[in-house]
Amino acid sequence: MRRYAILFLFLFLAAGIGIAQESKKPAPASVAVKAGKLLDVRTGNYAQDQIIWIEGDRIKAVGKSSDIERQLPAGTRVIDLSKSTVLPGLIDCHTHLTGSPYLLGPIGMHTSYPRDALIGARNARVTLEAGFTTVRNVGAGGYADMALRDAIIAGDVPGPRMLVSGPALSITGGHGDENFLAPQYHAIGDGVADGVPAVMAKTRENIKFGADVIKFMATGGVLSEGDNPAMAQYSPEEMKAIIDTAHELGRKVAAHAHGAAGIKYAVLAGVDSIEHGSYINDEDIQLMKQHGTYLVPTIWLGDWLMANYQQLGLTPNVVEKMKTVMPIARQNVAHALQSGVKVAFGTDAAVYPHGLNAHEFAVMVRLGLAPLASIQAATVNAADLLGWSDRVGTLEAGKFADLIAVDGDPIADVRTLETVRFVMKGGEVVKGQ
Ligand SMILES: [Zn+2]
Repeated sequence: MRRYAILFLFLFLAAGIGIAQESKKPAPASVAVKAGKLLDVRTGNYAQDQIIWIEGDRIKAVGKSSDIERQLPAGTRVIDLSKSTVLPGLIDCHTHLTGSPYLLGPIGMHTSYPRDALIGARNARVTLEAGFTTVRNVGAGGYADMALRDAIIAGDVPGPRMLVSGPALSITGGHGDENFLAPQYHAIGDGVADGVPAVMAKTRENIKFGADVIKFMATGGVLSEGDNPAMAQYSPEEMKAIIDTAHELGRKVAAHAHGAAGIKYAVLAGVDSIEHGSYINDEDIQLMKQHGTYLVPTIWLGDWLMANYQQLGLTPNVVEKMKTVMPIARQNVAHALQSGVKVAFGTDAAVYPHGLNAHEFAVMVRLGLAPLASIQAATVNAADLLGWSDRVGTLEAGKFADLIAVDGDPIADVRTLETVRFVMKGGEVVKGQ
């Protein structure tokens, strides 16, 4: 008994000290970022000679240098980007930070989930240094993505803000199952669930273990064995059960979908975004416009794969599918972009090396999106899709101080975004200076 009394006394004192320290906390650090040119991603206008005034991890004010300068408290740290163009930190809505192109195919079956998490730690840093201060990570085994997100929040490893899905839901034998091994190995993907009660349970299970977003496979995939990307996976009823369950628990839903029928079922069931969209047709486009569904195209990966697949461990079946689907996807996605469907930026990084994410901008522009629209896809639109418009996507008072700087004019040439000189996340300089 006595020992417990002492323990309680100790805890009480420790709590008291904690409170005392809390009240003595110094005012958050004040930082002024001088921007030579500041891109307003909503309008495409450049404002000259601006200051972004940051307190702690948030933006306090943005305006003309002469106006802001006289309000700055003594001791404000000045970061001089007066020769650069500043814009909001970029957002990638489709990453797999715990994956690597060199683990695609059967070789990946040799890698443990703890190893995945550590691969993710490296990729998180590389992605952040490339200017992507927020990612939506849509699919990881063993909840390694949640471990990574939490390690970044704790400050253990550097990385972008992450919304994570955990394992993607998939039908038995579908894109999210493990179809390569012979039956005696009894291999089943983490996210496999069939039938309405089972998909509801799996959705709730992912949320129980920390999913910020739900991902499911609405069609077959390209980099998986034995399934057809053009065909729907899951019935309309199963899709509706996944989406309704997630929405009731306050989570948005992303559907991996190549084939036109799978896209249609997912959109009608109320999905928030269609990933890839390789066989998207006019009916899908019309439905997506009606429902306000985002398309998250991932096209540059095809360029990288075609140039590099021979160095990877892909099986002949997968290589065959890749060669069939990629050129078709390019045409259909171009048509969708030109038809005015809502677009958010995504890459599927892990299919190619992390950090090259910004290569997607030039492809989007080549397929018919205006340069400003491609930048909006990775800022305001992406923030809207994530449900994070109150915290990221623009440089405005009250939002996180997540910003990047490049040389030159990203609207005249989106490839400038492939070489980011300076990165700040939450008021902390990650790269540059
Ligand atoms: Zn993916």
